[in-house]
Amino acid sequence: MKKRLSVLLSVVLILGLVFASFPFKAATAATTVKITLLETSDVHGVIYPYDYFKDAPANGGLAKLSTLVKGVRAENPNTLLLDDGDNQQGTPLTYYFNKVDTTTPNPMVAAMNIMGYDAMTLANHEFNYGLAIVDKARSEAKFPWLSANIYKQDGTNYFTPYIVKTVAGVKVGILGLTTKNIPNWEVPANIKGLVFKDTVDEAKKWVTVLKDTEKVDLVVVLAHEGLEKDIDTGKDLGTSIENQAYAIAMTVPGIDVILTGHTPLHPRQDTQWRACDAAEECRRRDLQGRHHDGTDCHRLEGCHENRSQSPRNCRHRG
Ligand SMILES: [Zn+2]
Repeated sequence: MKKRLSVLLSVVLILGLVFASFPFKAATAATTVKITLLETSDVHGVIYPYDYFKDAPANGGLAKLSTLVKGVRAENPNTLLLDDGDNQQGTPLTYYFNKVDTTTPNPMVAAMNIMGYDAMTLANHEFNYGLAIVDKARSEAKFPWLSANIYKQDGTNYFTPYIVKTVAGVKVGILGLTTKNIPNWEVPANIKGLVFKDTVDEAKKWVTVLKDTEKVDLVVVLAHEGLEKDIDTGKDLGTSIENQAYAIAMTVPGIDVILTGHTPLHPRQDTQWRACDAAEECRRRDLQGRHHDGTDCHRLEGCHENRSQSPRNCRHRG
């Protein structure tokens, strides 16, 4: 059935949470489905609103986010909860359960299971304690761990490249990508046998699979990497060895949303609304945020795209 897709993008990052909503309207029927995407990233071992180093109260963490997630789900059951990686390292909690006591169930995974995550993408810090620890944690997860660009030596994927979730009749493809710079950071023994391929090339490859083979309605890229260029000026930030989200947004067709993480860039702090006149421009307005302690509060909202017409507007607020 030919489907005219009307996408209203509203992205909100609150305490490390990205929120995006997509109303879908069929051309021949008055059926509208609103899908909400929630993203966490760089949680770095924080479950409770507690400073694990100072033994003191703190803001942020999965427990507080869980309350927000429940509220969003109550408003819209058609919600997907995604994590963009770097959750397995960062506090004494994760050190203890990934280095000292490696038989007890992984606490981050346990918390994420309770919260009902739909998927996560592996990031660089997932590998800090070695592949056996990655495999243990992954085996305990009730949600898939994605990465389309991490391969075995034999050329097959080590992790699940993508998932397709049908939400109220809408096929949503979620593609995981991991910064390719891991071999330049990680202890070689921790990633032995793995090949990290270029994320732009892999995005082109797998988005084609999602569109042509899986026939998805919506392509969401969950990339653990950030922007290598300033989103407003195009100025090269000199980080393309680890960040390629800008290149993906500008050169890979078929992507509806890119959810990013990893980089210490914040959205521009101005509150001016701006218009844009191309879908790519809308995609360029993707969110960048560093929220290791879960205390950042940023807002990005309002990109309205109708695929049968030219996009009408794109609004960005940092
Ligand atoms: Zn990272």
